Amino acid sequence: MKSQSTIRVLPSVCALDCPDACALNIQVDAGKVVGLTGDPKHPITRGFACVKTARYPERQEQSDRLLHPMRRTGRKGEGKFEQVTWETALDEISERLKTILKTYGGQSVLPYHYAGTMGVIQGDTPSTFFRALGALELDQTICATTGGSAWEANYGPNKIGTDPEDLVHSRYIVLWGINVLRSNSHLAPILKEARKRGAKILHIDPYRNETSRFADEHWQIRVGTDAALALAIGREILAQGWEDRSYLESFATGIEEYRKACEPWTLERAARFCDVPLESLRAMVAQYATSRSSFIKIGYGMTRNEGGGNACRAVTLLPALIGAWKHLGGGSVISTSGAFQLNRHQITGLARRKPDARHVNMNCLASELLGEPQGIHALFVYNSNPAAVAPDSARVRQGLSRASLLTVVLEHFQTDTADYADYLLPATTFLEHPDVYTSYGHYYLQYADAVVAPRGQSKPNRWVFQELARRLGIDVPELHWGTDALIDRMLDSPNPWLEGIDREKLQKERSVKLTLPEPFRPYAQGSHHPDKKIRFVPPPEQIEFQEELNQEYPLRLISPPGAVVVNTTMGNVPSIIKLAGSEPTLLIHPEDAADCQIADGQAIQVTSRYGSIQRKAVVTEDAKRGVVISVGQWWPKLSPDKKSLNDLTSERLTDLGGGSTFGNVAVRVSAANAFTPVQSPV
Ligand code: SF4
Repeated sequence: MKSQSTIRVLPSVCALDCPDACALNIQVDAGKVVGLTGDPKHPITRGFACVKTARYPERQEQSDRLLHPMRRTGRKGEGKFEQVTWETALDEISERLKTILKTYGGQSVLPYHYAGTMGVIQGDTPSTFFRALGALELDQTICATTGGSAWEANYGPNKIGTDPEDLVHSRYIVLWGINVLRSNSHLAPILKEARKRGAKILHIDPYRNETSRFADEHWQIRVGTDAALALAIGREILAQGWEDRSYLESFATGIEEYRKACEPWTLERAARFCDVPLESLRAMVAQYATSRSSFIKIGYGMTRNEGGGNACRAVTLLPALIGAWKHLGGGSVISTSGAFQLNRHQITGLARRKPDARHVNMNCLASELLGEPQGIHALFVYNSNPAAVAPDSARVRQGLSRASLLTVVLEHFQTDTADYADYLLPATTFLEHPDVYTSYGHYYLQYADAVVAPRGQSKPNRWVFQELARRLGIDVPELHWGTDALIDRMLDSPNPWLEGIDREKLQKERSVKLTLPEPFRPYAQGSHHPDKKIRFVPPPEQIEFQEELNQEYPLRLISPPGAVVVNTTMGNVPSIIKLAGSEPTLLIHPEDAADCQIADGQAIQVTSRYGSIQRKAVVTEDAKRGVVISVGQWWPKLSPDKKSLNDLTSERLTDLGGGSTFGNVAVRVSAANAFTPVQSPV
């Protein structure tokens, strides 16, 4: 056994899709990652990594990591490959791509990518290659665009919000549609400190979870009624004269239209409609409106339905109504990402984007791949797993099965999407390449070096596209810039919040707070619209779902992230699967379970208008009556029936931003034949 002294501790940054963007200390022994902790010196990370990322060393060293380029030998979807050299794989891909470009043009090529890494270099810069090709433009709408569009409709471009480090000054805190203890866990110590100083915490969520138990009060709201609740709160604030008139006169527009939109939503009506306790609602409005530094943390969960944009607009107007932005610790946040105004123009190829390039909404991948005539002839997937995570999975898989489609997948493991690849290329993990990280939960810009050498023959995404560009004879100098040149260019920004931050400082300090004004009170002086006015008009409204509940489909399905299973990134790590209970479950309220004649632990069939999957029932009041909850996203191939949760979802889009409607689905639940529990992948 090696002595402890051979272990080196090297700094890094968590690359998972999470607002916390933790600074990490990685333990490396003989070139292998053997442990990981949060950096105790980082003001947000405070020394702890979450339960998921604590298992990343296991993922990093897992025996089924992809270590060589592979070429398909079986049918698409079968997952049979043979090992080839990088030279062969890249030569063959580029030859096929040349033929496709010659025959169908650049607009037949789709890059499909999302937040498999949050690193700017390996996440965002490969777009340069596709923009130089004149490829289709992917609209990355699967998660955050509805919330972002709603925020920006109210407050103008570049969504920002209250600094989490200021929340200790908050006196009334609403956690609305987010399981903070799991999805933004580094907020918890700050919330505890705020509570010690006298803050009250309310959690609003149809899913009763760890955050509900942590909060002082929990309202198990009816799914999709958030706009009504927010409008009722607005109505009561106006009725009581608790609005901040001078702030509104200076910085708001459309208050009278908003007042009219609120009018039908009395507290009594909203309490019935949203299923929240009337007297608690009445007390909450008084406390929220009169505690000067009131704060609302909004989760994206609230936005993933047909009315999600209006709901988010309605909720995020409340801090403006009471002038909470003027007070330290007051305001709201859905994301801090708009504060990182890096110069992305050249490094992501925006300068080369064809103005007439067709945009593809990533939520509509199934229809795009199956479309007539089939316009997409080459698909490059990196940092994503659409066979599992894209809506309407069965049709996505059908689209991926098309023989004429060239599919290239850059991955760490043989995911469900990888099974459909013509070429499967091994990608480096965030521990094997340098990168720069912004955050959507705090205001620190971070840099991380590689801490270990790439395993096997794995290569960074960027290298793959550099090699393809060479073979295609595309002259794109910025695609060949090294890490230092990329960082220099992205920091070459006129934005004052990046002032004083250069590459030397970033690489030396590794985590640098943006140069925010002190004290930081975003929107205290109005919005980011040119006239500085916050838009109360057009007033948000409560949207009725087109996907209605009826006798055949009486239950609403939502799919919030869990403690260990969130998206599919960590979903094949044996200890994670074990921690998550070894098989995917569905939470159902006892009365709904009785109606459906199912018992706790029973195998069940969950059926929507789009598909049907199997799960194990967990009967619990954590699920609201009328709502069933699938916690996290399991790998389809590790699920009992090899199907994705997204076999149940549709390509229907939200009211703002073309977002996904994963929280919209109407389902029925019935007993299923017994199924075999999932086996550990290794
Ligand atoms: S809390 Fe988020 S950022 Fe921090 S280690 Fe976990 S997944 Fe990574």
